[in-house]
Amino acid sequence: MSRTAAICHSSHSAQTSGIRKEKEMNHPLEVFKYCPKCGSENFEIHNALSRHCYDCGFTYYQNPRASTAAFILNSRGELLVVRRAKEPAIGTLDLPGGFVDNEETAEQGIIREIREETGLDIKEVSYLFSFPNIYRYSGMDIHTLDMFFVCHADDDAVVNAADDVAECMWIPLRKVYVERFGLRSIRQAVHTFLQRNS
Ligand SMILES: [Zn+2]
Repeated sequence: MSRTAAICHSSHSAQTSGIRKEKEMNHPLEVFKYCPKCGSENFEIHNALSRHCYDCGFTYYQNPRASTAAFILNSRGELLVVRRAKEPAIGTLDLPGGFVDNEETAEQGIIREIREETGLDIKEVSYLFSFPNIYRYSGMDIHTLDMFFVCHADDDAVVNAADDVAECMWIPLRKVYVERFGLRSIRQAVHTFLQRNS
């Protein structure tokens, strides 16, 4: 497993004073000063995604990390929204989801995350769209590709907040407000979803 593959769910907002500024794009491997294979200092930026070691020839890439989130609806047209239990953006609204594990499909990943965070046993999900994001974690920018799915829950299904989630709420779509979601890609996705379903 690569060094970055084990990094867990974390994020930051690109908004400052209500004005979205151009993100300062750090090289994704900026904090990697030494070759992880031989320890050489001749570990230079090779291209936008990688560093190359000029002593042992090793090239290390940081590719976007696959992540998922779900729009879960019931028959009344309510959306299951969760409240974040952890930083970043603790206390803001979110959708159930998280990083895809190695050797897992995105569909398996989102179904597992839904079960871990809400207790819901979802059998089938449909892919919608994706948004890239940058999560600041451990002093490093982690680039992600967040894939969004839609699925349906039984009205009598029991929902229990757990894991990264402090609270679960069923909210009518007309009362879902984009600005209450703390993570950038989630806000973009909720905005897109509401536009398509209003
Ligand atoms: Zn090396």
